[in-house]
Amino acid sequence: MKLWLTRPLPDAVEARARATFDVEIRPSNMPLSGEQLRQALRDYDIVMPTLGDRFQADVFDDVPDPRCKLLANFGVGYNHIDVEAARRHGIAVSNTPGAVTDATADIAMTLILMTARRAGEGERMLRAGQWNGWHPTQMLGLHVTGQTLGVVGMGRIGQAIARRCHFGFGMDVRYVSRSDKALAFPAARDGSLTELAGKCDILVVAVPGGAETHHLIDEAVFAAQQPHAIFVNIARGDVVDEAALVAALRAGQIAGAGLDVYEFEPQVPAALMAMENVTLLPHLGTAALNVRTDMGMMVLDNVQAFVEGRALPNPV
Ligand code: NAP
Repeated sequence: MKLWLTRPLPDAVEARARATFDVEIRPSNMPLSGEQLRQALRDYDIVMPTLGDRFQADVFDDVPDPRCKLLANFGVGYNHIDVEAARRHGIAVSNTPGAVTDATADIAMTLILMTARRAGEGERMLRAGQWNGWHPTQMLGLHVTGQTLGVVGMGRIGQAIARRCHFGFGMDVRYVSRSDKALAFPAARDGSLTELAGKCDILVVAVPGGAETHHLIDEAVFAAQQPHAIFVNIARGDVVDEAALVAALRAGQIAGAGLDVYEFEPQVPAALMAMENVTLLPHLGTAALNVRTDMGMMVLDNVQAFVEGRALPNPV
């Protein structure tokens, strides 16, 4: 079976892929073009897509009899793949849950701390040669310890963030999720997103992207937040109405925001870039060598199971 890895991957992953499979590795970090998406379905038995590779219904419809039988996604989030359309065309989809959880929670903590304590703003000031020394009222931010955390989507990553905030920073934890959770820390489940938004000092989004959660965080959510509160998104950009976020920041409805993902990634609104109270990271959630290696190995575990006719370890 012919495997297509659509991006260069960490050395250990590429080495295993070359040793085990008939593999082609695409030497580009750009998302697949429309023609390459169709070529993937036409010319390979197994394809590893990732973020930005838009396998939508029209792509599957254009290749009615695909050679491809498995899309082994690199990443836990798969909102770029229309899984139902894939299924209709006889193509299975797998992903890489778990491998990404702690690293993404760490980036949420980075964003919480950087935004609350104005770390980006302070570093920019220092590097610009504008720091004139310590004084008692300089750059006062939000003290994170003991605040109330609100988690939107108490799944693997949401829980990893909440654990860090509760055990590491003594925070009270509240959340909304579709189902009640048995959690290893105290947490109160709110009935609605606006109720949660009004009660917390730090609101973090950790739901999957996709049609169901598109613009889940809208004007009403920001309006419900307290003016000293900060907003953090490590999930997917289009879960947030970015225009509403800009408006809320401009109006002082919230104190700041920390973002790892963007609605029209990799475009970042100039309005956000101009705001000192916003921390902007370039989708770094899982960007650590061992994490990306683990993700790649998980992709290959799914490929191997598929080739050997076993059940996929991580079916979507
Ligand atoms: P997960 O374990 O499936 O957790 C997702 C949670 O969201 C679940 O608790 C689910 O509730 C909840 N949820 C889904 N739809 C909801 C809705 N409409 N309202 C409220 N809650 C909802 O997934 P995960 O592993 O934590 O990953 C979450 C997402 O993070 C991924 O899908 C991915 O897009 C994103 N991510 C980003 C990065 C990054 O680099 N920034 C890295 C990894 C992942 P139930 O449990 O009740 O169904």
